[in-house]
Amino acid sequence: MLFNTKMETLPREEMEALQLRRLRDVCTRVYANVPFYRKRFDEVGITPADIRSLADIKLLPFTEKQDLRNNYPFGLLAVPRDQMARLHASSGTTGKAVVMGYTRRDLDNWAELVARSLVAAGVSSSDMVHIAYGYGLFTGGLGLHDGVERLGATVVPASGGATKRQAALMRDFAATVLCCTPSYALHLWEAGQEMGIDFRDLPLRVGVFGAEPWTEAMRHDMEVKMGIAAMNIYGLSEIMGPGVAIECADAKCGMHLWEDMVYPEIIDPVTGEQQPAGELGELVLTTLTKEGVPLLRYRTRDLTSLDYTPCQCGRTHVRIARLQGRSDDMLIIRGVNVFPQQIEGLIVETPGLSPNYQIIVERERNLDTLEVRVEMAENLFADEIRKLQSLERKLQKSIKEFLGVTAKVRLMEPRSIQRSEGKAQRIVDNRPKE
Ligand code: ADP
Ligand code: ZN
Repeated sequence: MLFNTKMETLPREEMEALQLRRLRDVCTRVYANVPFYRKRFDEVGITPADIRSLADIKLLPFTEKQDLRNNYPFGLLAVPRDQMARLHASSGTTGKAVVMGYTRRDLDNWAELVARSLVAAGVSSSDMVHIAYGYGLFTGGLGLHDGVERLGATVVPASGGATKRQAALMRDFAATVLCCTPSYALHLWEAGQEMGIDFRDLPLRVGVFGAEPWTEAMRHDMEVKMGIAAMNIYGLSEIMGPGVAIECADAKCGMHLWEDMVYPEIIDPVTGEQQPAGELGELVLTTLTKEGVPLLRYRTRDLTSLDYTPCQCGRTHVRIARLQGRSDDMLIIRGVNVFPQQIEGLIVETPGLSPNYQIIVERERNLDTLEVRVEMAENLFADEIRKLQSLERKLQKSIKEFLGVTAKVRLMEPRSIQRSEGKAQRIVDNRPKE
């Protein structure tokens, strides 16, 4: 099933012609209307007319998150303020919020991409879709909402919070699709368990999970616990919000990124050089159709790779690999690079542990220390001290073996680590800022 058959299966040649037309158009628009971009073009000595092929995108300067902050709130608008139909702001996981403006057309395009994404994930117009992403300035709730309406399915705008009530609503309304962060999905599932609601007994069949990093191991765990297909969705407020890319139910192998509206590149995060397809690097995105706040070569800080090989679902859009983390999420522990997802993978693979964890980094006498707090599974009996100790040692050993760092592992009572209603806070870095 496809939502927009023509666009989703556009042959590569036509796609590239469309992308080039749109790239030239967006360059012309920002050069004429956004002083920030005109200055950037002037600095490197180019004009929009210099963009003659897609490869010429290399000539364009990057846009960084700091540029958005410096232009807070409306400095990057490319249309008059009164054409703005809606504003959103990013949750500011890594600093001050950035503001994004959308014209009516931008909202329509976004809804289209979310509708395409939902269909790719296996959702249809007859589904009952429970949205537990936060509504408000965060793009998750309203973004998914408009897409579900565009698709013509039934939407339950639950937003975050009141978790037990939500689990009850999912049962009462017979939700078939759940949209939220993977960590909140687990939280909802736990609340359900406490109330005698087993997700496996509900008609729930699809989870559309994203907005934070999660692993293949976590996916498997959730699919078994909840009796669903758990699908990965990607997006960021700077580009529009959720629905920039999604896995297709047919292949479940990388996320199709909607290339007719967003142009992807992978660069080496240190040198800024474009990387060939298949190489891991930082994802850089250019909005091809956005009117409100178009962005050229936006550095997402997200690490992934591009796969242009044909997909069995028939969609021609490139696939991005599950995110390997965010370059600013990477912990450097005594010189060793560690991503939280690597630790998550090891936790999920260790029987007796639950995927609720937190990573605490401290500095003691100039040495970094890493502590992993992880909850034991419900069915483990806390009185078997020896068993607990051996579990701690087991995880510690695999962290040492696979990641090369020494970590202190502390088993915690079930449900003792703070749950989040949006994005989980996995890392507590108490080291003094440089
Ligand atoms: P903030 O930067 O404040 O977190 P957003 O709410 O726009 O702002 O979050 C976008 C970011 O969330 C992405 O850049 C990415 O790091 C992360 N993200 C979104 N979807 C996924 C996903 N499916 N897997 C991993 N990370 C994701
Ligand atoms: Zn596919």
